[in-house]
Amino acid sequence: MGSGSAERPLGGRAGDKSEDSGESRLNAGHVFRPDAFADRLSRVSLDELASKGMKGIIVDLDNTLVGYGQEVLAPEDAAWIADAKARGFKVALVSNNFTGRVQRIGAELGVPTVPSALKPLPGAFSRALRLLGTPKNATVVVGDQLFTDVLGAKFLGLHAILTQPLVAKDWYGTRILRFMERLVLGRRDSRNGRA
Ligand SMILES: [Mg+2]
Repeated sequence: MGSGSAERPLGGRAGDKSEDSGESRLNAGHVFRPDAFADRLSRVSLDELASKGMKGIIVDLDNTLVGYGQEVLAPEDAAWIADAKARGFKVALVSNNFTGRVQRIGAELGVPTVPSALKPLPGAFSRALRLLGTPKNATVVVGDQLFTDVLGAKFLGLHAILTQPLVAKDWYGTRILRFMERLVLGRRDSRNGRA
């Protein structure tokens, strides 16, 4: 596995220090390019996020925080969320899932949730930003899918960290996206040890 931490700075281009300018960073290629990769949520360095000026963290649920269809978090991931909150990060869960699981897990962790998100459409991430109250350029999405989490983040100009899925099992629609992910990430990402 890779180092689990960022290779590229989270802030995009060097010298781009503007506070939320509202300027879109979108251009060809960028929407499919995570700012960083991590083996799993708990390997994302909170020190590094803080040093990059991040204030808000939007976490995907299925296969990022818990295995698909599961409700119990690994202790290290629960500890990571607690640590993030203790350090003053604003945290929200955003999930395409629509079941009560999303709210139950959010309530257990004490963080707001946006279920039925329809990622990569921007509505849910916009709602999450309002809940967090953090600017776009100080907010990072952590998720396991390129075509929902990363693409959705980039549509809005948020930062994105792509994790490995927690378990191999996925919703059937996701399996098709996984195939396409490998096509897009295959060559570019080989140095990170991902397939
Ligand atoms: Mg996911």
